[in-house]
Amino acid sequence: MILWGTGDCELTFDLSEREYCQKCQQDQDFALRLKYEYGHFYHLFGWVMSKQYQLVCPVCVHGWVLNPRAAVALIGSNPIPFYRRNGWAVMLGLGVVVGMAVVYRPAG
Ligand SMILES: [Zn+2]
Repeated sequence: MILWGTGDCELTFDLSEREYCQKCQQDQDFALRLKYEYGHFYHLFGWVMSKQYQLVCPVCVHGWVLNPRAAVALIGSNPIPFYRRNGWAVMLGLGVVVGMAVVYRPAG
């Protein structure tokens, strides 16, 4: 049985920025969050299908989208786990290794 699928995740961070919220009509501590969708193969080998860093008002959830590079710089590292970002590359590498082993197996 081949097990594959998709999922989504929302991460919040202990980072905020004081901004004026037009909906609430007052200053709020806008929080940084990341929403992303990923695909996976056996829950180990993943890839990111879409991602969006957002700065959102904690009261009305109004906000805006941030530049991904600026958001990662604020956070300090890429918050998406390695196996969800680059698991597909690990799977490809394993496939190449297994393929080479089959093709170049010792005779006899
Ligand atoms: Zn608001």
